[in-house]
Formats: sequence, structure tokens, C-alpha cells
Amino acid sequence: MPVLRYGVVSLAEIRDAALGSVRRRSDAAKFVQELAWRDYFQRVYDKLGDRIWDDREEYKTGYPAAYAPTLPDDVRDAATGLPCTDGFARDLRETGYLHNHARMWLAAYLVHWRRVRWQAGASWFLCHVLDGDPASNARSWQWVASTFAPKPYLFNRENLEQYTDGRYCRTCPLHGRGPFEGTYDDLQGRLLRSVPTPPGTDPGRRGASRHDRHETGRRQRDRW
Ligand SMILES: Cc1cc2nc3c(=O)[nH]c(=O)nc-3n(C[C@H](O)[C@H](O)[C@H](O)COP(=O)(O)OP(=O)(O)OC[C@H]3O[C@@H](n4cnc5c(N)ncnc54)[C@H](O)[C@@H]3O)c2cc1C
Repeated sequence: MPVLRYGVVSLAEIRDAALGSVRRRSDAAKFVQELAWRDYFQRVYDKLGDRIWDDREEYKTGYPAAYAPTLPDDVRDAATGLPCTDGFARDLRETGYLHNHARMWLAAYLVHWRRVRWQAGASWFLCHVLDGDPASNARSWQWVASTFAPKPYLFNRENLEQYTDGRYCRTCPLHGRGPFEGTYDDLQGRLLRSVPTPPGTDPGRRGASRHDRHETGRRQRDRW
């Protein structure tokens, strides 16, 4: 939301408007949680300054040295052949906006499927998104990458298909055999190596938690 990013309205004003207008209390609560993430990222930025561009921790993927430093041309040019990631890359370039899910999927694709350093993707996003914000952007990329989170964020085709109402998957020439096929366990096995399971988590649900955060209260709103 560029008006928030550029200080036209404050977080408190948006929060109060949301609490006053959203019909379902749980929808407002979820929205206010998103605002709280923004506030938290800003506070981290205040503390770290340009060090937000450093990995906060090691990648928890088992491939600490495997990441390329630059954005692949086919990703930037929307020429990977995958309708979803190419669609997101085009939207990014042409509209300056991506839904939060699309940001997460594109970030995960770049870091975990293509093994590119998150900094390359974060810089790319900042060139295009109208709400480009170093704090929210870098922290979110690090969260996906696992350098600011206990585990990497992964998604599968089923997840993407469900939350885009099949928009990309319906026409995908790779449907049923593409890189995002499989359960979270399958994907972990293919993409990660010797990742520790944080205490109290179910490895089969790895990567699902932040979607849950959106999906419980904002299901309709989050759809395309
Ligand atoms: C890889 C990645 C990069 C991101 N880069 C940015 C960025 O540069 N600037 C930015 O403002 N947000 C960023 N986000 C957070 C989030 O995706 C966007 O704020 C949201 O998609 C903007 O959509 P909206 O305008 O419909 O806001 P809404 O969904 O209506 O939310 C309202 C506001 O709440 C805040 N917010 C919502 N979701 C999040 C979140 N997950 N984390 C932090 N704040 C949130 C934002 O300020 C947003 O404008 C990023 C997320 C990811 C996964």
C-alpha cells in the first residue's frame, strides 16, 4: 500500500479505520496483524540500518554456499515457461504490485528452486513495487529464504492453484509434472538437505504457517 509506505496515512489511522469498518471482527484482527508485521520490520530496520541486507542467520536449507548472486535473465524477463512465475514477473514489472502470496511464491521459487541469493530478488522487487520498502521487503525475503526464520518457506502447486483459483495452473503445460508438484514432504526431500525440525513443529506442514496466518481470517480477500 504505497500511501502507507510513503507516510500519507499512518499505521494507527489505517488500524482505526479497519477496526471501525470491517464487518467481521476476525478479518480486522488479521489485517491489524499485517500492520503489526510492518511496524515490527520498521523497528528492526531502525536498529540495523543497511545491515538488513546481510543474512541474519545461515540458510536452513542444507546448501549454505549454493546460492547465485544475480537474478537469472529468464526470471526477470518472465521467460521461465511457467505461467505462474512468468505472470508474477510481468505483473511486477507492468503494474508495480504483487499480492502477498505472489511475493512469497516468487521469492520461494527464486531462492529454493533456482538457488539464487535472496538479496538479488529483494533488489529486483525494490526496482518495481510501488510500495517498495527496504524493511518489509528485505525482512520478508529473509523469512522466505530462512535466514530470518527457523525454516525455509516452500509452497506446492496445490497451494498456488487453490489461492489463485486455478488461473495459472489451468493453462500450464507442465500441470501434473512441473517443479511445484508434490506434498510438502516431497518438496522438502527434493529441495532441502538435512534441515533440522524446530521443536514442536510438524515437518509435513513446513512452510505452511504464514499462509495459515492469511487464510484463516482473510480467505476471500486474499483471492485474486
Ligand atoms: C518477498 C516479499 C517482499 C515484500 N516487500 C514489501 C515491500 O517492499 N513493501 C511492503 O509494504 N510490503 C512488502 N511485503 C509485504 C506484503 O506482501 C505487502 O505489504 C502487501 O502484499 C501489500 O499489499 P496490499 O497493498 O494489498 O496491502 P494489504 O494486504 O491490504 O495490507 C495493508 C498493509 O499492511 C502491511 N502488510 C501487509 N502484509 C504484510 C506482510 N506480510 N509483512 C509486512 N507488512 C505487511 C503493508 O504495509 C500493507 O500495505 C513483502 C512481502 C514479501 C513476501
